[in-house]
Amino acid sequence: MAYKCPRCGKAVQRGYSGGAQATAGLVGALFYAAFGAFECKSCGKIARNEFPPEDRKKILLGSMLLVVSAIAVTIGLIALLVNMK
Ligand SMILES: [Zn+2]
Repeated sequence: MAYKCPRCGKAVQRGYSGGAQATAGLVGALFYAAFGAFECKSCGKIARNEFPPEDRKKILLGSMLLVVSAIAVTIGLIALLVNMK
């Protein structure tokens, strides 16, 4: 999902943290993507409240989808671990 930068109109992306990914794996990366800042290649980090209300709704929805995916991955991993015993 891509959003437009409120400052320059270019596409922004969700900020991914290598550190979060290393410590918490895929689930951590998903949560970070859901709640982390957005990044514009020209302007740097963009706060969520800089986006217009319409975009913020979409971002919130996208974040919820990411959280749901993170929970699904967690449940899947637990199921996998339980089945391995
Ligand atoms: Zn920008």
